[in-house]
Amino acid sequence: VIMTSSMTFQPVLEHIAAEVERMPGRGRVADYIPALAARDPRRFGMAVAELDGTVYGVGDWREPFSTQSLTKVFTLALVLAREGDELWEYVGREPSGNPFNSLVQLEYENGIPRNPFINAGALVVTDRLQTRTGDAAGELLTFLRSESGNARLDFDKDIADSEAAHGDRNAALAHFMAAYGNIGNPIPVLLDQYFRQCSLTASCADLALATTFLARHGLRADGSRLLTQSQAKQVNAVMLTCGTYDAAGDFAYRVGLPGKSGVGGGIIAVVPGRCTLCVWSPGLDERGNSVAGVAALDRFTTLTGVSVF
Ligand code: GLN
Repeated sequence: VIMTSSMTFQPVLEHIAAEVERMPGRGRVADYIPALAARDPRRFGMAVAELDGTVYGVGDWREPFSTQSLTKVFTLALVLAREGDELWEYVGREPSGNPFNSLVQLEYENGIPRNPFINAGALVVTDRLQTRTGDAAGELLTFLRSESGNARLDFDKDIADSEAAHGDRNAALAHFMAAYGNIGNPIPVLLDQYFRQCSLTASCADLALATTFLARHGLRADGSRLLTQSQAKQVNAVMLTCGTYDAAGDFAYRVGLPGKSGVGGGIIAVVPGRCTLCVWSPGLDERGNSVAGVAALDRFTTLTGVSVF
């Protein structure tokens, strides 16, 4: 059920949207591919989903945008559900303190990436999901369609092609880890899956709903279990400590919720046991996090008192 009428969270969303409207700077839109560079940094949408599937939203909350690294949360959950703790032999769970596409730590740590949310770690996760399922991106799409209830969710071929055309850095990460034996699939197969994953397009409403399994301690929308309660806690913990790259400390300080950002300008956040949020505004700060998005989440937890602390 999608409700836009004035229920509990609606007034606070309206209030935040009005504040965001008055914000002077909105950051810079990602320009490493043309499809992202074309977005207007003044766009803003925000949605809150409750555990029963009720969604509140404001602004551009139904506008599809490029999810990019938000998908790293879902691929992590899908792999963790299949291999449990074995996964942590191939990818760490410590904050990196480095940019999302950094190569530097890999050499010192024998090709084991610091965490699943920097690109190197996400490539390992997608590689393992590909080995387990034969179609990592397809598995992700099926999961997001079913959790959001939106069967029209899809990949954006232009964005995927553009990612591939500008994919030297991700290719370098994949090759470097393969040299340490930490990649199981042929690199072109892995990169094709990863770029399609990044190209998935969805709205704040779709993503807030698709994230509710993490607020439901691992239970999917239909009541079946994807993750154990403990695994859901683990994913939330890794989001809190690693979800916004080298700004994770500042994000925890300001917002106080497990969150994950993407260079498309989206951020998803979880209030365990209560609700999820998704905010979108394409203007980014220098660390690749949405400026208005972080500000809006900061205001949400401040105004409502809802946080994990
Ligand atoms: N497609 C982007 C990349 O791999 C995703 C990064 C991000 O959203 N932070 O570089």
